[in-house]
Amino acid sequence: ASGYTLLRDPHHNKGLAFTEKERDAHYLRGLLPPACLSQELQAKKFLATLRQYEAPLQKYIAMMDLQERNEKLFYKLLIDHVEELLPLVYTPTVGEACQKYGSIFRRPQGLFISLKDKGKILEILKNWPEKNIQVLVVTDGERILGLGDLGCQGMGIPVGKLSLYTALGGVRPSACLPITLDVGTNNEKLLNDEFYIGLKQNRATGKEYAEFVQEFMSAVKQNYGEKILVQFEDFANHNAFELLEKYRKTHLVFNDDIQGTASVVLAGLIASLKPLGGNLADHTFLFLGAGEAGTGIAELIAREMSNKTNAPVEEMRKKIWLVDSKGLVVSSRKESLQSFKLPWAHEAKPVTTLLEAVQVIKPTVLIGTSGKGKTFTKEVVEAMSSINSKPLILALSNPTSQSECTAEEAYTWSKGQAIFASGSPFDPVEYEGHTFVPGQANNAYIFPGFGLGLIMCGAIRVHDDMLLAASEALAAQVTKEHLAKGLIYPPYKDIRNISANIAAKVAEKAYELGLASRLPQPENLVKYAESCMYSPNYRNYR
Ligand code: NAP
Ligand code: MN
Repeated sequence: ASGYTLLRDPHHNKGLAFTEKERDAHYLRGLLPPACLSQELQAKKFLATLRQYEAPLQKYIAMMDLQERNEKLFYKLLIDHVEELLPLVYTPTVGEACQKYGSIFRRPQGLFISLKDKGKILEILKNWPEKNIQVLVVTDGERILGLGDLGCQGMGIPVGKLSLYTALGGVRPSACLPITLDVGTNNEKLLNDEFYIGLKQNRATGKEYAEFVQEFMSAVKQNYGEKILVQFEDFANHNAFELLEKYRKTHLVFNDDIQGTASVVLAGLIASLKPLGGNLADHTFLFLGAGEAGTGIAELIAREMSNKTNAPVEEMRKKIWLVDSKGLVVSSRKESLQSFKLPWAHEAKPVTTLLEAVQVIKPTVLIGTSGKGKTFTKEVVEAMSSINSKPLILALSNPTSQSECTAEEAYTWSKGQAIFASGSPFDPVEYEGHTFVPGQANNAYIFPGFGLGLIMCGAIRVHDDMLLAASEALAAQVTKEHLAKGLIYPPYKDIRNISANIAAKVAEKAYELGLASRLPQPENLVKYAESCMYSPNYRNYR
């Protein structure tokens, strides 16, 4: 290939880092200014420029441009500065990027498959230049983060998630494929926007929707085989539960909003048992919010308790209570409950407010997954503290403005007694001379390592026990020192190491269950996981 083409190929371009020898060998002379920089210096320079931008969206655009220009440098930066750059390529900035996707859209990323393409989905998959795909993240854009229906503009989410698969989990970028299924949008603002990039029609539903997704899922399996991992992302909850239930039997599917969230939260709970003492089954759980996150977490907790005690999962579910927008989920409401809430409809008197529910249920653990902010009021936190010497309070709703309470509120209202973690990041809090560091229950702890584990062993199905294995692997990375500061999750800077440990445990479980197809099983799975991981360092071109 010519030097000119090489400079425009993001997978191989090194910019000013091409050496003198490489410039001679690859017809690059004259196409670059004379200076030769190391990758480290390039990274330093890019970061300095990035830090001068004030608007997060501007930083996001700069990162996306870099990804399209020099992929290795992009990943080098993302890996080495994960705490600083994660909030840009992922939530919260990616949310803003999706909202404004139409105006920042330059070159398309990933595959757009719309209702217009019905009957041709297999052909479309073949248009993608890479053939060896290992993981694809797909959205229909109906529930993007907490921002609602963004239609076709939801593409930022699969793109961002897959960047994390590579940066945090070490999956090769060329093996990742972001996909948006455009089935229309019910967002009036987008439908009336003359610049909207998606289909201008209301969302397909029912049979039409199901058939479209079915064609997609068949085409995926036909084109990529049994071992392709399909991650469903940011579907509205009515579709999310149905699709997961339907395709988990025939495909390697994973829903991060349901299963990834469940696994990361369960990890935090397992880690909390060290300072709290006792077993998971000794606890009583109350959720505010009974959707994808809430019921997904609840189910995984019940499974973990059942595995640990050998009691039936139905028995364990009775220790878990959920409140939705209409109050406590109880059996007298059965007629009107969505099917995914039915396992949680226990016998009890109806209760309408959270505070009342806390007083009646007397939970040891309170988890917020309603998407509504400021719902863990002073009264609620005080009630939790009067029932428990160390109440465990998780305020998981995103973004920060929707958090059930702030870290400061949790620590001050509980007089320093609460163990607290949240979905959105909070700064450390000083309370009566003690510094509390709140943990962040970020899904990015789990899904990259989880996916790597599935891929490296050639798993063909996801089993709930693999999610439990991932939770336990993450919890095992939390040390006494972390817990002493109040942290129930390990710091992010070790994420690649954390991911390797998660991947190893997930693969081990897959082998145990007979769901792994890569044989023989490698002897040391952590080492094997590390050896599978993508390196962002430049290679020498001879
Ligand atoms: P979802 O499927 O739409 O579920 C929302 C649930 O909250 C529904 O059960 C809804 O009740 C209930 N609800 C809404 N308003 C309420 C109110 N005022 N009082 C009581 N309940 C109320 O959404 P989701 O996917 O579960 O996400 C929920 C939140 O969790 C979002 O903010 C999301 O960002 C966050 N989340 C965090 C993490 C994390 O920290 N790692 C991961 C995933 C999600 P009805 O069923 O009656 O409508
Ligand atoms: Mn999501």
